[in-house]
Amino acid sequence: MYILSFGRGGRSPNSATATTLREGRPAAQMQLFCPACGQATAHRVLYSKNGCDILQCAACGLGRAQANEFDPGAYYTGDYFSGGHADGYVDYRGAEAVLRREFAHTVDFIRNHCTGGRLLEIGCAYGFFLQEARRFFEVAGIEIAGDAAAYCRQRGLRVVAGAADERNLAQFETMDVIVLLDVVEHLPNAGETLALCERYLNPGGIIVITTGDFGSLYARISGARWRLMTPPQHLWYFTRESMQRLSQAIGMQMESCDHPWKVVPISLIMFQIGRMLGFRSAGVAATSRIGVPVNLFDAMRIVLRKGRGRRVNPSSLDSGKRWIRSHDNEDKGSS
Ligand SMILES: [Zn+2]
Repeated sequence: MYILSFGRGGRSPNSATATTLREGRPAAQMQLFCPACGQATAHRVLYSKNGCDILQCAACGLGRAQANEFDPGAYYTGDYFSGGHADGYVDYRGAEAVLRREFAHTVDFIRNHCTGGRLLEIGCAYGFFLQEARRFFEVAGIEIAGDAAAYCRQRGLRVVAGAADERNLAQFETMDVIVLLDVVEHLPNAGETLALCERYLNPGGIIVITTGDFGSLYARISGARWRLMTPPQHLWYFTRESMQRLSQAIGMQMESCDHPWKVVPISLIMFQIGRMLGFRSAGVAATSRIGVPVNLFDAMRIVLRKGRGRRVNPSSLDSGKRWIRSHDNEDKGSS
């Protein structure tokens, strides 16, 4: 397990937006295993939000939420995609047209790195990305929300309901592309899941990840009020450095890392602003169908490449002798 328990009693009650800044108090520090650094490192408690402590690795900047009682299976239900959770989506299916246009751009981006073959999306929701990707790839998906997975299958997609674990990944052939769009930050064991994905990739295959950038200016300025600081839904807060180290730890190379523009449904923007200001905006169907280009430069798009030769032995990474690559390979291939 990556999340180690530690002896801090008096967890704040689980009110929806409770935030406790630890200003004026000595910062609590502890040693925890960092999945990106591959070893125990010093972690600082930044603040508490929604009853979770937010900690950060001093070495790589990887943030994490301590949410020991979080059950993803109970949380990611149909409700999550239709405004039922303050941290979820307001009207995911109503925004299909906007989302698919955006996903078509993502497919174009992926084709700059891999032109075809088998593609697996982890956390494929209602399959809108897969519908775009199937024009160029043989596609499959894994989705934890059972009704969303069923919806995908009704529309002719090969989608398994459940977690991205060994049992579910083993149901598919090895892949050329594995995609996690705004998903990795939700995974209880993000490092283990990415290591598992690497094993199910063909030599030369890629993992494409989009996630928040905890090291971005906007994230650092907004602190606990950052739009993506939504524990226990988001359990991990990656920085470019932590993603770089994690890719190394699982024997992959970071091929590109950029902060792309994104067309977002107006309803989702209103929903996120409402959440920041402490109210829940009512969904207006029309605003789900209109998208506007947005870039706060606080979200990353990352491509990791598996080598074509023999992989690094991951056990050598646990000995503390691992080396950190220089940054000469970053920001290539950004579109
Ligand atoms: Zn670290």
